[in-house]
Amino acid sequence: MKLATFTEGGRTRIGVIEDARIADVSAVDPMFPTDMTAFLKLGAVGRKALDKALATAPRRPLSEVRLEAPVPRPGKFLAVGLNYADHIKEIGAKTPTFPSTFAKMSSCINGPYDPVHRPRVSDSLDYEGELGLVIGRRCRHVPKQRALEVVAGYVVVNDLTVREWVTLTPQVVIPKSFDTHGPFGPWMTTADAVPDPQTLAVRTMVNGEVRQNSSTAEMTFTCADLIALLSQAVTLEPGDVITTGTPPGVGEGFTPKRYLQPGDVVRVEIDGLGHIENRVIAEPNGTAFIDA
Ligand code: MG
Repeated sequence: MKLATFTEGGRTRIGVIEDARIADVSAVDPMFPTDMTAFLKLGAVGRKALDKALATAPRRPLSEVRLEAPVPRPGKFLAVGLNYADHIKEIGAKTPTFPSTFAKMSSCINGPYDPVHRPRVSDSLDYEGELGLVIGRRCRHVPKQRALEVVAGYVVVNDLTVREWVTLTPQVVIPKSFDTHGPFGPWMTTADAVPDPQTLAVRTMVNGEVRQNSSTAEMTFTCADLIALLSQAVTLEPGDVITTGTPPGVGEGFTPKRYLQPGDVVRVEIDGLGHIENRVIAEPNGTAFIDA
């Protein structure tokens, strides 16, 4: 099942994608949650209500709605660096024995087809196509063998990065968290439709040119490894998003470096999960403001 967050007629809510249509499940049941995190918190009860609502939900053409990030403001947006064997080989790094974890701030989250800003303060914007997963069950200290049980579904992520700021600060949270730099979606493909998250082809294109072309089979730390490890430290909660690292082919890896420019279109696609596509624009003047 493909679960989406969408806006239509000024209201944002969740729906189910069926080819070129979206089933507006909250239209038939006023008690049905309109927020993905609230829906996920309901667990099996929510899924049952969803199946019931789906039987009679009105369908709208997908072209008439605006898709948002499936979880617009997760409690946590966790990430891992240097997690693909082919990428590690490419840059001549040693295979890490412990994953290089960090977080993106949830304020950087952006819709699957929305513009991303080339920052005013730096021209070193880079793409990182990645598999992301959405947590469906509250958990801590999850054993690896059970880790995939807590996954609600999978998404396509672009972990956009301002490379210059990575070199200017000793940590990557802010360089990875500029406004608009966390687009994901286009919907969440539920875990029951993804039998093995470690066999998915991942591709990133810039203006149609393939820059990244790999498979989640290359991951050093699997989705299950990452859930097991991260949950040793923090309670994972419904709606939390973990993005799992990027394959080789980022702009930083070219000589000369190929950073994103205004006008570029970046597309990340993962087999079975769909694609996201974001146009790069110069950061608009309207981003400078101070509320009254
Ligand atoms: Mg990344």
